[in-house]
Amino acid sequence: MSDHEPLIAPSLLAIMQCPACTGDLSERLEDPALVCGSCGRAYAVRDGIPNMLIDEAALPSND
Ligand SMILES: [Zn+2]
Repeated sequence: MSDHEPLIAPSLLAIMQCPACTGDLSERLEDPALVCGSCGRAYAVRDGIPNMLIDEAALPSND
């Protein structure tokens, strides 16, 4: 677990955007997800496949 293994292919991540706000996405390794840098939504990644459904994205909490 020491090496950073990409959740998805870097070339794919580079062209992906947040479907809610078109913000840039970055990988979150713990609790794997793609997190939007603009609106903060987190799109879960399972088996290398991101779930980009806005309705199923986790919104940032203020707690
Ligand atoms: Zn966004």
